[in-house]
Amino acid sequence: MNKVRTRFAPSPTGPLHMGGVRTALYCYLFSKINGGDFVLRIEDTDQNRYVEGAEEYILESLKWCGISPDEGFGIPASQEGGGGEYGPYRQSERKEIYSKYANQLIESGNAYYAFDTPDELVEMRERLKQAGVPGLQYDAVSRTGMKNSLTLSAEEVQANLDNGVPYVIRLNVPENEEIRFHDLIRGLVVVHSSNIDDKVLFKSDGMPTYHLANVVDDHLMKITHVIRGEEWLPSAPTHVLLYRAFGWEESRPEFAHLPLILKPDGNGKLSKRDGDRLGFPVFPLNWTDPESGNVSAGYKEQGYFKDAFINMLALLGWNPGDNRELFDLKELVEAFTIERVNKAGAKFDPDKTKWFQEQYLRSTSNDELAALFMPILKEEGIEKSIDYVSKVCGLMKERVTFVKDMLNGMYLFKAPTEYDEKTLRKKWKEHTPAIMQDLKDILLNIETFNAETIEVKFKSFLEEKELGFGAVLPNFRLLVTGQGMGPSMFEICELLGKDEVISRINSGLSKIANA
Ligand code: GLU
Repeated sequence: MNKVRTRFAPSPTGPLHMGGVRTALYCYLFSKINGGDFVLRIEDTDQNRYVEGAEEYILESLKWCGISPDEGFGIPASQEGGGGEYGPYRQSERKEIYSKYANQLIESGNAYYAFDTPDELVEMRERLKQAGVPGLQYDAVSRTGMKNSLTLSAEEVQANLDNGVPYVIRLNVPENEEIRFHDLIRGLVVVHSSNIDDKVLFKSDGMPTYHLANVVDDHLMKITHVIRGEEWLPSAPTHVLLYRAFGWEESRPEFAHLPLILKPDGNGKLSKRDGDRLGFPVFPLNWTDPESGNVSAGYKEQGYFKDAFINMLALLGWNPGDNRELFDLKELVEAFTIERVNKAGAKFDPDKTKWFQEQYLRSTSNDELAALFMPILKEEGIEKSIDYVSKVCGLMKERVTFVKDMLNGMYLFKAPTEYDEKTLRKKWKEHTPAIMQDLKDILLNIETFNAETIEVKFKSFLEEKELGFGAVLPNFRLLVTGQGMGPSMFEICELLGKDEVISRINSGLSKIANA
């Protein structure tokens, strides 16, 4: 069997959508699980839609996600696969190749020149509309009334070419035939050729269209599996015809068309607008629109870990066959199978995405979290030892989604200046200050000021005074942290140290008394 080779073939028409990242991920996983190569190719044949910065964005996004191509665009020549046996990997640099193959199709009668002007094409559609023809397409029937090398004489065609009359090259789709192919996800796909138009393969600007370039490149780059989004399924029959026309049927890649990613609410494909409307990113990284300067949010900058993002994407359309949900990239490479990719669209769930982030944050070591949290603290003007910050992370990580959310524990760095209104209203009673004074005396007498001892002393204090947790702990927390909720108070006290806890009780009591 040939070495498995997959490719991710984005067009640089804007920022890479998370659906695109999922396609890249599945291509990557499939190649890795089969010991194959993953190739990155840039499909920029539609120069009108080229967007400045999009190529760099694609490279940076894949890099952040850890989905690294073995070969292709953007890989330094020094790296294995970098120069690439099959390059260049940017289609605009391969023009001559496509022109040669387009001519080959003309010669074999599988494609033809069409000289119709834009106005004539509009007229054609108008005519078909009036006649009640459903498809309004340039095909085996309608082409007979048009200006192309199938209707014009050989001399007329030659004269047009010699005189530089603008033309396109179209695929000569057979008239009455069933086109069949197998899709790894969808099974047998059958399309009647009357539903396929004579697609333009080569344009008057000397550039191929997506269809021609895609098929030629997949063939020349020895791609064995074409894994791409469902939106390309309608193009697949055209591609099947092209492989046949070139005589490449034997080595035609297998197809796998991935399910759509759907809106969290309602139906339809997930779009950037859904993200704006419901407040979640649809792009891996921040994207600044080169024209408007508008910035669209990215998962990375929102604070997501790449493993959480990848894990979430992997499960949007694939399942491992059991209840397991947590897979980092390495584990995915072991677990992924294309057979377990669903046909049906996958609903995106922003809450579940946060859940993944929380799982990864919790399983990250305190020291690693501290390294990420320290620069954020620095921006807030706080500089503490890594040891201290690491302990803060240990206390906070069970209660936050993102590293930056640990700023909610600012009281672990600074004494509170405000006290939670609700706790004050509900819990602070007339006798509370006296209880807090007594508690303070107990704390003052603790020699080894650690969580365990504080807890023991605190509990015996409650017993002795015949007080419930609910009457004491929230108020104690209020004085020390200013908050109504948070991590274990005993751990907080150990971290802050005796002097700080006592001083906070004192100043809290006087501030609340004077409020
Ligand atoms: N250039 C196409 C895109 O932007 C690639 C489709 C394919 O993988 O064949 O999605």
